[in-house]
Amino acid sequence: MNLVRFPRPVKALFPSVTWEIRDSKPSLYLTFDDGPTPVITAKVLDILEQYQAKATFFCIGRNVERHPDIFRQIVSAGHATGNHTYSHLKGWFTPDSEYYADIALAANFVPSTLYRPAYGMITPGQLLHLRRQYRIVLWSIMSYDFAYNTSPQQCLKNVIHYARPGSVIVFHDSLKASEKVLYALPRVLKHFAEQGYHFKVIPA
Ligand SMILES: [Zn+2]
Repeated sequence: MNLVRFPRPVKALFPSVTWEIRDSKPSLYLTFDDGPTPVITAKVLDILEQYQAKATFFCIGRNVERHPDIFRQIVSAGHATGNHTYSHLKGWFTPDSEYYADIALAANFVPSTLYRPAYGMITPGQLLHLRRQYRIVLWSIMSYDFAYNTSPQQCLKNVIHYARPGSVIVFHDSLKASEKVLYALPRVLKHFAEQGYHFKVIPA
């Protein structure tokens, strides 16, 4: 079974991590990881635009280096961007110095004070080190748009069923997730817009 929400005790262990954002109005914080990706990111931007929704894109540095034009489109549309490493390294299995160097390299392409570890894998030591420089953002809702055993309908249900005011929701603007994210995203936006929600960027 996929874990759509982090269990509360896990979140309580890491209070310095952003899991969700308290807000006076009903807001959702949509995030898109692993881009920019040709075609897919542009489609995501179009859908967001239709609902005047803002979101946060946690970009892989290597992808921004390859597709700087798509990165510029994200920024000029008023979305936020965050560092998601240069080569999508897993913090748990990477020596600290190598891990920090990869993030510093990504920072050349993604100037941001937001950081999301790839796979959500970060050691407590890495967390302590990086939070001096970054707001570390994990999530409260994982859509599982990347998972082979999740249908587009289930991906949509994961978000509709669990999202609450202030939820930070993960999608991916990647090839692997494209079918699911392009199915779920417009429906999520429509559903929550009708309930009076706003879609905002994660503040720095
Ligand atoms: Zn990722």
